[in-house]
Amino acid sequence: MRHPNVGRSVAAFVALMAGVSAPAAPPAPVAPAPAPAREPAAGPPPEVVRTPAAAVAPPLEALRGSASAALARGLQGVSAERLKDDLAALVGFGTRHTLSDQADDRRGIGAAARWLRERFEGTAQGRVAVIMHTFTQPPTVRVPREVTMTNVLAVLPSAAMRAAGRAVASLDDLAGEPQVWVLGHYDSRATDPLDATSDAPGANDNGSGTVALLEIARALGGLDLDATVVLAATVGEEQGLLGAARLASDAARLGLPIVGVLNMDIVGDPTGHVGPDGVRVRDEGRVRVFSQGLTRRLTIEQVSAIRDTAAESDSPSRQLARFVRSIGPQAAALGSVEPLLIFRADRYLRGGDHLPFGDEGFPAVRFVNVPERYERQHQDVRQGPDGQAIGDLPQYVDYQYLARVVRLVAASAVALAQSPRPPRRVVMLTRQLANDTTLRWEPSPSPDVAGYEVVYRATTEHDWTAAFDVGNTATARVPVSKDDFQIGVRAYDAEGNRGPVTFATAGR
Ligand SMILES: [Zn+2]
Repeated sequence: MRHPNVGRSVAAFVALMAGVSAPAAPPAPVAPAPAPAREPAAGPPPEVVRTPAAAVAPPLEALRGSASAALARGLQGVSAERLKDDLAALVGFGTRHTLSDQADDRRGIGAAARWLRERFEGTAQGRVAVIMHTFTQPPTVRVPREVTMTNVLAVLPSAAMRAAGRAVASLDDLAGEPQVWVLGHYDSRATDPLDATSDAPGANDNGSGTVALLEIARALGGLDLDATVVLAATVGEEQGLLGAARLASDAARLGLPIVGVLNMDIVGDPTGHVGPDGVRVRDEGRVRVFSQGLTRRLTIEQVSAIRDTAAESDSPSRQLARFVRSIGPQAAALGSVEPLLIFRADRYLRGGDHLPFGDEGFPAVRFVNVPERYERQHQDVRQGPDGQAIGDLPQYVDYQYLARVVRLVAASAVALAQSPRPPRRVVMLTRQLANDTTLRWEPSPSPDVAGYEVVYRATTEHDWTAAFDVGNTATARVPVSKDDFQIGVRAYDAEGNRGPVTFATAGR
């Protein structure tokens, strides 16, 4: 079988690559070496046999140079002891039910919200700006009457924002500013979802994620980051993701450039059920990272386009999950847990604050400990038949484990903040049949982009396995077939920090 165009396309590819300068820092990821183009002898051109799928997986870790140093500096002080003290104080408000008392200074969600504001304001030498994001929630299934709700947001302004002296008093002030969001709902519940008065310690669900926000504020507050980091303690999660839904719709209305949303919800107890061998399941080395493939807001045309490009597992949220995985080894070297990617929106019968953000089109993932002890979640505090206390209590949280989760989430936030933002509208040209792939894209909006990589994987692989460095360009032709591979593009900076991937859609 002869392909008269192969020699020419290789020549074009070689020409393309010849004009490309490699990024300064990392060795260029492994790409299949193109065969040298040869002058054809008389007669038919020689056949070129190549197997791009055999390319070895390159190192895909995202953080290098100053970003890597910033990460190490930030993670140094993460403290299990302080997480424990903060959680004790948070649980001390008795209940943080969203419909509980807001005026009392010692009990209820209002007191908890004001305490969070003070704690945030006290971190990082006043470099943190706090936004009390208050809104009126109309009645819903779990909200019997109209009620005022407040998300507490701590904003760590980017180095550029601070240099410009831009103040932050509301979400509007974040317009146009590249930003990373980290979430943790601070409300809690007892057995009855409408019981606003009984004790509801919510230590693991989700005091763990809430105090993790405080610790991340301390870890990152002193760093000079390229993007702003927003730490959002959300309200109304247990009443139907209400605080996050309002934040997500406000962020979408303002067109906030959110690079990624990292939701921590139930991240403090790595124990589960007792197995058939009588031993309790425990997984203190990992945390699950849930991501959704299809959101609930897709139109039939969008679903059709996803079907045509086999993009069922290539949503922005899946690319964010892969990005978190890519920095896993670096974070682990600094004492974090390992991310365990779960390609599913969330666990059965459960949801989380990442979902409304995903539905608005923002890349969003959820962190949750691997096994769970459901008998401790959403429970009235009481004495069990064996004398053990039942309930979501602080003594059941493993603070060393929680500190390791904090390190992974903080590392993910730093990596997102320091890497170039993804290119936009990446299109594979499908005008004609071809054995290679031509792409074009709109450049990453980040000012420090040094070039781009075209990444690919076999259609049966779950993560990117190889990449071509195509230099600082907005178009590329690569010798892999779009029919046989999943293909995307990501930007890198001069130090070699690589941002999240944008999946290539089909176009003409
Ligand atoms: Zn929760």
